Amino acid sequence: MRQLLLLSLILSCTSPAAAFEISGSKWPGAAATFYINIEGFSPSSISWNSAFTQAANDWTQETDFDLTVVNEYRDPCRDDGANGVDFTSTICGTSYGAKTLAVTIRKFQSEVLGPARIAEADIVINQDVEYNIFDGPIVQFGVPGLDFRRVALHELGHAIGLDHESGPPAIMAPNIGNLDRLQADDIAGVNALYDGLSNCTIRPLKLGAVNDALSAGDCQVFELTAGGDDNSFVDVFQFALSSPASMRFAMTSESLDSVLLLADANLSVFDFDDNAFADCDSTLTANLAAGSYYLLTNTFVEPVKDDCGTSGDYALTVQYTSADPVALGAASSFLGDVSSAEFFGGISANNGISYGNVFTPSDSLDIDATINIDPAHQGQPGFLVAAAANSNEIILLNQQGQFELYDPQAGQLTRARELVLGATERISFANDLVPAELGISAIEVDFVVGYGLHANPDEIYFHGTPLSLIVAPE
Ligand SMILES: [Zn+2]
Repeated sequence: MRQLLLLSLILSCTSPAAAFEISGSKWPGAAATFYINIEGFSPSSISWNSAFTQAANDWTQETDFDLTVVNEYRDPCRDDGANGVDFTSTICGTSYGAKTLAVTIRKFQSEVLGPARIAEADIVINQDVEYNIFDGPIVQFGVPGLDFRRVALHELGHAIGLDHESGPPAIMAPNIGNLDRLQADDIAGVNALYDGLSNCTIRPLKLGAVNDALSAGDCQVFELTAGGDDNSFVDVFQFALSSPASMRFAMTSESLDSVLLLADANLSVFDFDDNAFADCDSTLTANLAAGSYYLLTNTFVEPVKDDCGTSGDYALTVQYTSADPVALGAASSFLGDVSSAEFFGGISANNGISYGNVFTPSDSLDIDATINIDPAHQGQPGFLVAAAANSNEIILLNQQGQFELYDPQAGQLTRARELVLGATERISFANDLVPAELGISAIEVDFVVGYGLHANPDEIYFHGTPLSLIVAPE
């Protein structure tokens, strides 16, 4: 897709107030780099390069978008993946209209989810126009002038993803005017375009089994992508891997057609499964490097298959294998105190060669958790707690290494250990535990560990997602 956006000289007529105009096309990561190296100065003795750089800095300082300017020449008419700027005699071969000052040429790449992304944006400026650089009204001392800086601001707005604004005052008005700086509408437009995640509830992904639903009131794709017309429901889960892991995601439903999407930290989808041919379920496997990710559970706008709809309950199972224990989400606490504690957990059936969360009843399991204590808490007298929960009950490890049923009436939680807190504390839930020997053929258990200080025993520091174990028959 290729699109030309022209800024013309014609003065705009007034029209009803409207919000900023965006199609939803945007840069992944809310950042782009422009290359400019134009010789010379305006009649007011300001270099074209510095005026362009100032315009780029205005967008960076006032919005959520980051524009970087590199002082190197790149031909704006070449499809080279680099964003160039130059004065030209034609729009890369096509004549400028009689009143065209500048044109932004945008190139797009389609996205799995939402509108196409912007892949390149080049700016050509009509070299037959006599530019100057100045602030204030465009008529100076009775003579109309053309301020290069506000043209650069306008064209960079297109490059970022804004379309023309015919309502409220905006640098993105279709025609040049007396506005010489970004307006509230321009800033609101960029922030709305790049802040789609704020439209949706983002939940930590449990590496285990989750039951959820896509239904009225949930986030819709056009909200998440801040544009487009995909109004299918979507749940947004975030997870971080501290080590590489092999992942398998399975979404099953009796009522909705399942779609699974994996996105990077910039919300760029890099893998998906919509299982268009079989039942209503979806599975996705991926080998992921350490880093931050989003898993999106989604469905279709219109039913595709007779037996599957576009809303309802679903079950999600996240399976992993890793050479290392996994990070257990962001630190949390009972009373809201913020800590820098870090929590890791691992379940291994091969003495620590690999870790995972789905095992068979005959596997011999070691289940351990490690806490990197907040440095401010190290050296203080405190305690550790360790809990395991299934759908029926919660049990807590006591100081004899045995599990006790959680008693909500008890004054304090059963403690696994009293100690002076070190830098790293380790808690073992089980060694060589064989579920079949306990008569267990299938079970789901969530393990949670935490610690507290004797100085404030009601505050317990723990983790955002449990260490989850799924035992299922082979
Ligand atoms: Zn324009």
